[in-house]
Amino acid sequence: MRAVASPDLAISDAQQVLQRVFGYDSFRGEQQEIVEHVVGGGDALVLMPTGGGKSLCYQIPALVRPGVGIVVSPLIALMQDQVDALNELGVRAGFLNSTQSYEQRRDTEQAFVAGELDLLYLAPERLSLDSTLELLDRGEVSLFAIDEAHCVAQWGHDFRPDYLNLSVLHQRWPSVPRIALTATATPATRSEIATRLELTEARHFVADFDRPNIQYRIVPKNDPRKQLLQFLRTEHAGDAGIIYRLSRAEVERTAEFLVANGIDALPYHAGLDKQVRAKHQARFLREEGLVMVATIAFGMGIDKPDVRFVAHLDLPKSVEGYYQETGRAGRDGLPSTAWMAYGLQDVVQQRKLIDLSDGDEAHRRMQSRHLDSMLALCETVSCRRTQLLAYFGQDHPDACQNCDTCLNPPESWDGTVAAQKLLSTVVRLDRERNQRFGAGQIIDILRGKKTPKVEQFRHDSLSVFGVGSDLSDNEWRGVIRQLLAQRLISVEGDYGTIVLTGTSGEVLRREDPRQVLLRTEPKRVASTPKAKAAKQPPQEMPAEAEPVFQKLRAWRLATAREEGKAPFIIFHDSTLRQIAAAQPSTLDELGGISGIGEQKLNKYGQAVLDALAAEE
Ligand code: ADP
Ligand code: ZN
Repeated sequence: MRAVASPDLAISDAQQVLQRVFGYDSFRGEQQEIVEHVVGGGDALVLMPTGGGKSLCYQIPALVRPGVGIVVSPLIALMQDQVDALNELGVRAGFLNSTQSYEQRRDTEQAFVAGELDLLYLAPERLSLDSTLELLDRGEVSLFAIDEAHCVAQWGHDFRPDYLNLSVLHQRWPSVPRIALTATATPATRSEIATRLELTEARHFVADFDRPNIQYRIVPKNDPRKQLLQFLRTEHAGDAGIIYRLSRAEVERTAEFLVANGIDALPYHAGLDKQVRAKHQARFLREEGLVMVATIAFGMGIDKPDVRFVAHLDLPKSVEGYYQETGRAGRDGLPSTAWMAYGLQDVVQQRKLIDLSDGDEAHRRMQSRHLDSMLALCETVSCRRTQLLAYFGQDHPDACQNCDTCLNPPESWDGTVAAQKLLSTVVRLDRERNQRFGAGQIIDILRGKKTPKVEQFRHDSLSVFGVGSDLSDNEWRGVIRQLLAQRLISVEGDYGTIVLTGTSGEVLRREDPRQVLLRTEPKRVASTPKAKAAKQPPQEMPAEAEPVFQKLRAWRLATAREEGKAPFIIFHDSTLRQIAAAQPSTLDELGGISGIGEQKLNKYGQAVLDALAAEE
C-alpha cells in the first residue's frame, strides 16, 4: 500500500519544502492546488505558460511523497543541467539516458532501487525498454511526471513517437499518480494529450496564459538584417536573446552578420555537428549576454531565466509555435521583448512549403489553417495579446498597453478600390492572356513601370496598366500581404503566383462590393516604450542599488566560472536584485530573501555577505 498523507499534513509538508529547499515564501497561481492534488495521489494535466512554474508542481510532490519521482522528458541534452540545478538545491536527482556510460547508468539504477533518489529523469524511449519497466518495479515510484506533454500530439510541431508508449504507465502502475505538463495549450492539443496519455479522468489545471512582462511587436519587413541590428543596438545591447530563422543557411548568415557587427552571436541548427551544438548551447546557458541564432531545433526546455528578447526574422508556421518560442523570453518576470519582422515573401514561402510538404490533404489543410491564424495575428489592428490569448481560448478584455498595436495604434484605411484594382489585374492577366504572375510583376503593372519584363509580355497594353500609381511599391506589397491574410487572394506554386479565391468576387462585384479595411503601412518604425515588468514585478530595486547589483553579478560570474556552472544556477538576477536592495548583513536576513533556500544559504551565504562588505 502506498502511504497517503492526510491533506493538511501534506500541505504543511509541501509548504515547508517550498521554503526550505527552494527558498520561496509562497506558491504561485495554481501551484498549491496542483501540488495538493498530486500529493494526495490524484492525476493531473497541467497547462501553464513557459515560466509559469511547472517544475515545482511535480518536484515538490516527489519530495513529499514516499518513493522516487520519475520524470519523463524528451530533453536529453538538458538532463545533466536539470539534475545539477536540483543537486545545487540539495535534492537527490539523477537521470538515465543514452549519453551515459554503462557504469554511470548502473550507479543511478542502484541508487533508484535503494530509494536514494528523490527524482529520476528518463528519456521517453527508455520506457519502451522492458529492462526499464522491470527496473521501475524493483524500486518505489512516488509519481510519474510527463514533461513537455504536447510531444504526444501527433500533428503538433514537436511530436515524438515514443510519447505514444507512455500510456503503459497507467496500465502497469494504476495507483501511481501521473502529472502531465505542457506550455502548449490550444483546446485541441489539450484534448489530444488527455486522450493519448489516458488522462481523461485527470483533473485539468489551466493557468492564465498571459505573459505580461513580454512586449509583443510585429513590424513589416523591409531590410531585415538592418532592422534586427537596429533593434538589438537600441533596445537590447549586451542582453541574452534568441533569434529564430527558418533555414539553416539563414541561421549561419545571420550569425555571421551579427558577429561582423560586433554582437556576440552563435549559430544553432540540426545540421551542425552534435558536439558543436552542445558547445553552443552550453555557452548560451553559461555566459551572459550571448545571442543565439537558431532554427526551431533550439529552445525546448532551455530554462535560462534571463533571455531578454526573442526575435523572429521569418514567419513561424503557427501561433502555437510562435507563442512557445516567444515564451522563452523573460522567465524571470523582468521586462522582455518578442519582436518579429514579417513580409510578403514570408507568406509566399510558407504557402510553397505547405504545397510541397509530404503528408495527405488533411495535413496540408491543417497547416494552411495554422498559417492563416498566424497571418491574422500579424495583420491585426487590435491588441496582439488579446488575439493571442483568444487563440488559446482565454479572454483578455483590456487593451494590454504592452504590445505594438496598443502602444502605437495602427491607422486603417478603406482599401476597397485598391483591392479592386489588384484583383482586376489578376483577372485580366488570366482571362486576356491566360497568364499568372507573382506579386512583383503585378505591382509593376499597377504602378505603370516599363520594365524589360513588362515590355516582354506587353503588359503595358493592359487597361489596368498604371492605374495604381497612387500607391508606392511598399504600400502595394502591404495591400497584397493583407489581402492574402484576409484570404481574398492566395499564392500558388514555385513562383508564388497570385490567384483569386472563392471570396474575391465579393470585392469585385459592381453592386455593393465588400468593403476591405487595410492597415496603414508605418512610414518608419515608431519608437516604442520599453517593455514592462510582470504584474507582480520582482521587488523593485532602487537605482542607487545598481552598483551593488553589478558587484554581486561579478561575484556570481566568478563563482560560476570556478564551479563550471551557469550563473543563474547559483542565483537568478531577480534574487541578486533583491539582495542589492535589502543589503542584508547577517545570514538570517539573507535567508529571508526569495530564491535562497537552505542549501544555497549554507553554500554561498557567507560569500555573498563578504562580497557585499567588500570595498570597490
Ligand atoms: P516552467 O517550467 O513552467 O517554464 P519553471 O518551473 O522553470 O517554469 O519556473 C519558472 C521560474 O519561476 C523559475 O525561475 C522558478 O524558480 C520560479 N518559480 C516557480 N515557482 C515559484 C514560486 N512559487 N515563487 C517564486 N518563484 C517561483
Ligand atoms: Zn496590446
